[in-house]
Amino acid sequence: MPEILCVGEAVIDLFAPTGVSLKEADRFSRAPGGGPANTAVCLARLGRDVGLIGCVGADSLGDYLIELIASEGVETSHLRALDGHFTTTALIARPTPEQQDFTIFRGADAELLSEHLDEPYIATAALLAYGSPIFTGNSHAAGLDLVSMARRNQVLVSFDANLRPRLWPSLDVARSRIMAGVRSCDICKLNEVELEFLSGITDPQQGVEWVLEQGPALSAITLGGGGVHFGNARGRGHVPAFKVQEVDTTGCGDAFVAGLSVGLCDAAGEGLAPADCSSERLFEIFRFANAVGALAATATGAMTALPTRHQVEGFLQK
Ligand code: ADP
Repeated sequence: MPEILCVGEAVIDLFAPTGVSLKEADRFSRAPGGGPANTAVCLARLGRDVGLIGCVGADSLGDYLIELIASEGVETSHLRALDGHFTTTALIARPTPEQQDFTIFRGADAELLSEHLDEPYIATAALLAYGSPIFTGNSHAAGLDLVSMARRNQVLVSFDANLRPRLWPSLDVARSRIMAGVRSCDICKLNEVELEFLSGITDPQQGVEWVLEQGPALSAITLGGGGVHFGNARGRGHVPAFKVQEVDTTGCGDAFVAGLSVGLCDAAGEGLAPADCSSERLFEIFRFANAVGALAATATGAMTALPTRHQVEGFLQK
């Protein structure tokens, strides 16, 4: 049974060539994606025992995703191929470095249902990581049940807002459902855009306080190349990001969550809950998470650049 479970999207990303809009693109390159799938693959590369819970379509693209994710060493017994649904597919173009042109064909990933959740499987994990897309579409109820199951079995819950406005019927629905995730987790990671969207706060240190007031034991506000501000009952801190040759920051947050999960599981193994970690211990944990996030920015594609444990250790020694 895996020590860490990632829950939610495993999807296909189809990328248009750089500098071309979706209107102009006539060729696309295929890449596996989805936040929880990226985090799961990263955890496997970091040497952890990890499983992915979610749904793909019973189609060729679903087969491709399951085979690829399993080949990375992720446990896929609860990654279902659903009959009658297609694998969620996104078309992504970057006509200019600042602009993203994006269309998503939402399929099986939004069809995870409560009846798909296997409580004995979930109960044996030390940590469960997920993001807000599960609260959209038909998977909303499963998302709520998942968190209840994890909490009543003392599984640490790590929530990454992972705001994707296109997935929501309205921003008000997004805000209220994402807040339910913030309020019911142990570890909450928001980037600065998500922090402002949820709270109106732009200062990351104030953001850390605001998150802790909502209930989580550990708050992390990430700032891309600006690193991370953190806080728990024992203190507050900031860990700067590593300087790297930035190529593509897709998946940095997912990689960061993987690095953070590693540190928190190690601490839990020593009997230290997220609230009990000293600021010095958290500094080390976030330094590792920042290294994993930074390395993910060094190549194109969300999964391509996800580092192995060996690569992270080599990078940290430099
Ligand atoms: P998200 O991808 O969820 O929006 P961020 O962009 O804040 O999250 O990135 C998460 C973490 O990944 C950052 O705190 C940082 O440690 C690392 N990271 C992201 N972008 C860079 C970058 N350009 N250079 C170095 N580290 C980065």
